Amino acid sequence: MKIIAIGRNYAEHAMELNNPIPDEPVIFMKPDSAIILKDQPFYYPDFSKDIHYEVEIVVKISQMGKNISKQFAYKYYEEIGIGIDFTARDIQQKCKTKGLPWELAKAFDGSAPLGRFMNKNNFDNLRNINFHLDINGKTVQNGNTSMMLYSIDDVISFTSSRFTLKKGDIIFTGTPVGVGPVKIGDVLTAFVEDKQLLKVEIK
Ligand code: ZN
Repeated sequence: MKIIAIGRNYAEHAMELNNPIPDEPVIFMKPDSAIILKDQPFYYPDFSKDIHYEVEIVVKISQMGKNISKQFAYKYYEEIGIGIDFTARDIQQKCKTKGLPWELAKAFDGSAPLGRFMNKNNFDNLRNINFHLDINGKTVQNGNTSMMLYSIDDVISFTSSRFTLKKGDIIFTGTPVGVGPVKIGDVLTAFVEDKQLLKVEIK
């Protein structure tokens, strides 16, 4: 399976990192070795001094598809969840300055904790899902999918025009404003509406 992630999909987050609003989705990938499941801890890597949290709604692809039109994108996913796109911001800054790819900053082991998934039928409107991230019980990021520049269906349509989507693939749909650093000992909990679906301790 593969993980496809969208950058700069919330205008206020793009602005907080001094990035332009994109005119097409910004795409990067993570390997399956980036995944942390079942509330396992994240081990702070020694190659970075500035690991940031980015909480994101994630979508699990339910059947193979390519060149999927926006109109039929809903047929290709059944489940919605939440994940964290851990980012080595110091390394990403170097990559950006040099015009290099982002994998060293975004695709390392443990950089993609995934929580439990919920059937999409639990939601009345996929373009109005509230989600948030707490650190040690205090809310640090609050988002709503209505603020996405590219909706879930837009993202599936665009990505499937370049990469065949397969059952089990995961799409990280971008983070809202409020990203920041984690430190050893922090406990991160992520919620979709009022349901806690993910917990990660930084070790
Ligand atoms: Zn992200």
